[in-house]
Amino acid sequence: MGAMNERARRPPRVLGPTIDDETRCVHYHGPTDVIAIKFKCCDEYYPCHRCHEEAAGHPARQWPEREALEPAVLCGRCRRELPVLEYMAVSACPGCGARFNERCSLHYPLYFAFGPETIGGEGSGKINE
Ligand SMILES: [Zn+2]
Ligand SMILES: [Zn+2]
Ligand SMILES: [Zn+2]
Repeated sequence: MGAMNERARRPPRVLGPTIDDETRCVHYHGPTDVIAIKFKCCDEYYPCHRCHEEAAGHPARQWPEREALEPAVLCGRCRRELPVLEYMAVSACPGCGARFNERCSLHYPLYFAFGPETIGGEGSGKINE
């Protein structure tokens, strides 16, 4: 709470039942559970979809593909915000190297209305046989 004009971006707050300063929550608190995700519906960060479900009081909305470059993933360790697309492409934080829980990808549909496979189309599954 300094008196100086703080023009740098403040780290966003993380809502929900977190249990430590690295955004682990009562639902997911393994060593690699260090991210929070911003929800499209309320523009607030929660550690997981269950936190949002319990604390937000409204249904979650997912990020549409056209907003894949929105910084909507927060590294709980260094507080860096990653665009959704970048988050999907890495297995650890580009800022601090914290490893991300790879099983989170199973939950992408809860947060994002698209997946890494729908973007870029590297392997579209259409292979000439
Ligand atoms: Zn919400
Ligand atoms: Zn949670
Ligand atoms: Zn980080």
